Amino acid sequence: MAKYANVIIDISHEKLDKTFQYKIPQNLQGELTVGMQVEAPFGNGGRKSTAYVVELTDTPEYEISKLKEIEGIVAGSIPIESQLIALAGWMRKNYGGTMNQALATVLPVKQKSTEKKQRLVRLVVSPGRAKEQLAFFEKKHHTARARLLTGLLGQNPLPYEVVTKKLNITPTVIRAMEEMGMLAVEEKRAYRNPLGEMKQEKKRLVLNREQSQAVERIWTDFSRGNYQTYLLRGVTGSGKTAVYIELIEQVVESGRQAIVLIPEIALTYQTVVRFYQRFGERVSILNSKMSKGERYDQFERAKNGDLDVMIGPRSALFTPFSNLGIIIIDEEHENSYKSETLPRYHAREAAIERARMAGASVVLGSATPSVDSFYHAQKGNYILLELEKRIEEKPLPRCYIADLREELRQGNRSILSDKLQKLMEQRIEAGQQIMLFINRRGMAGFVSCRACGHVMKCPHCDVSLSQHNNGKLMCHYCGYTSSLPRECPECSSKYIGAFKAGTQKIEEIVKKRFPGAGVLRMDFDTTRKKEGYEKILSSFANQEADILIGTQMIVKGHDFPNVTLVGILAADLSLHVSDFHGAERTFQLITQAAGRAGRGKLPGEVVIQTYSPDHYAIALAQKQDYKKFYETEIGYRELMRYPPIGHMLTMLTASKDELKAILSVELLAKKVRQAQEQGKLCGLSVIGPSDAGIAKVKDIYRKVLYFKHQDYSVLIQIKDVLEQFVNRHREFQNVMVQFDFDPVNGF
Ligand code: ADP
Ligand code: ZN
Ligand code: ZN
Repeated sequence: MAKYANVIIDISHEKLDKTFQYKIPQNLQGELTVGMQVEAPFGNGGRKSTAYVVELTDTPEYEISKLKEIEGIVAGSIPIESQLIALAGWMRKNYGGTMNQALATVLPVKQKSTEKKQRLVRLVVSPGRAKEQLAFFEKKHHTARARLLTGLLGQNPLPYEVVTKKLNITPTVIRAMEEMGMLAVEEKRAYRNPLGEMKQEKKRLVLNREQSQAVERIWTDFSRGNYQTYLLRGVTGSGKTAVYIELIEQVVESGRQAIVLIPEIALTYQTVVRFYQRFGERVSILNSKMSKGERYDQFERAKNGDLDVMIGPRSALFTPFSNLGIIIIDEEHENSYKSETLPRYHAREAAIERARMAGASVVLGSATPSVDSFYHAQKGNYILLELEKRIEEKPLPRCYIADLREELRQGNRSILSDKLQKLMEQRIEAGQQIMLFINRRGMAGFVSCRACGHVMKCPHCDVSLSQHNNGKLMCHYCGYTSSLPRECPECSSKYIGAFKAGTQKIEEIVKKRFPGAGVLRMDFDTTRKKEGYEKILSSFANQEADILIGTQMIVKGHDFPNVTLVGILAADLSLHVSDFHGAERTFQLITQAAGRAGRGKLPGEVVIQTYSPDHYAIALAQKQDYKKFYETEIGYRELMRYPPIGHMLTMLTASKDELKAILSVELLAKKVRQAQEQGKLCGLSVIGPSDAGIAKVKDIYRKVLYFKHQDYSVLIQIKDVLEQFVNRHREFQNVMVQFDFDPVNGF
């Protein structure tokens, strides 16, 4: 049982890393948990203060005799901060990093400088009395005072700036009249409302049978206090958003609040409008373009009870709603829900934990659920709800596969297959629109044969080898290297090399092939400017162009009714990312991209261009058969013991000094292997060390070591032991050691 508690006294303080250590008296040992509010003597006078416990430990950080004791636990209602601090504690334990990093993630830190206050000058006497005084001032030629009173008799109160700037009254005059008891200066925090001028109109959809059933099920459980996690699998265009909105409305009516997580990229005007129409001023958003002050304001509005619904990316999960009822995670399969900074938490898991603490339901929605979530649904940990049909029974688009190996054989070396070119011609003629999607994931440079589609893989790990700058091929899991073959080991063709294709290149090709067509391009270049993204989308929505070329960005959440053709130019690119998620990503991307076609009155068609038409991820995406895909994929994960069957932990060592990075990773690997030799850590596999996927960033060398085990808790143990080892040994000075559990994007 822990003997010491680290506490924070004031969480509005700019620096959360200021913790104070106290002794835990005997009678409270075992009672305290992270997040609890306690009473403790603070400062020189030993004044009794309230504090939050952020960490429990057995190691004193100061001389024990100098430590004061915790006096007691604060009874009564638990503030929302306690819950969030407890969540931070959970994150630290499950994902590593320091408690301060976890706290900084969950608690919005007040930024004094950016606070925006609105000041008002208010007349506090009767108009009769004011007029009397005005006459007096006029007689005495106190013109400034007279001007101010006249102003306030016209409009009461007046903004402070109007008084000082427009009426040209000095602060001295204002203060003097305040002292006379004529007026008062009031301060009101002006919270910036990011949705500003949107118009609310109550528009209601009548839910169809499948939608109503989903709402009904979740609501029935909720109203009985049975808070569960639901996986809502609904094909593209099946009306998942309408389900969320209906549910949230009921939850809000019961006096509770809702958080809606959306991948940043899908947080479009269209989506926000749909929520605003239903919840008006009671909904707010967060996004990465906001300043810290603006984000803080939104959190304050939530805490003050001015909001019912918060929409935003990952970080919106920490909105301080004190009576949270439901968390929705839309497009739950998206990688962006995994944090790439410390703590490297997964928003899905953290949401489930927050909901557990708060007594709230969680709804995960997707057309292509992550293998992880579907696995949990199969196991009964989540409740599976399905929307099989598109709204108004619109058919799903028809998908064709264009085999690029065949095209090469026929002498077509263009990036556009014959089939796609023909269909594009038709569409342009008919005045319908086309989206061309280029898959940019996995640009890490896998090597494949254009004649037969063969991909160079690691013989030990079954993931693609990546081409490094030195020309060598390498496995990011185990470090296996080989040289680039001159010809394909399968078919002896010399068309073997790294696969590369960019949006700009494709734009050129398309413009040349279809000179009359209007072409828009959306990628990181064209959207860098603030409005670039919305501008391109609205221009395409207004049918100012025939063809939209884009990366992942164009796949999400857009409804273009006139799009009847989608071309997926290089379906293979994501198949060969150098980790085990390749097939899953590919299936998701194709299905989501295909889902953009035929959402209006006209049915849609899709062309999937690929070198691997027989790969199950591609063949099953063509059939849009999620279940079959899942079964195949989970079989493969079982075979390899990859998550969600087992768990993985990646450890990164990084240093400017490459030798140091190598020695560190080897030392830590040795420590784990020694424990294994002593018969500990049964069932653990240690893979590597090797270079990280990105082997060098800004001259910092990065090495990784992988662990695989059935039990997440064993991996936590390894992390704890290695973390302590690192903290205690000087060898690790100037070496950064980080952990990533069940990695999604990798180091
Ligand atoms: P998803 O998120 O599943 O792809 P959306 O929620 O975006 O689907 O719905 C697709 C389209 O169908 C939207 O334009 C939406 O307004 C419309 N829609 C949803 N539910 C209904 C309904 N019950 N009746 C009519 N239209 C609906
Ligand atoms: Zn070949
Ligand atoms: Zn390997």
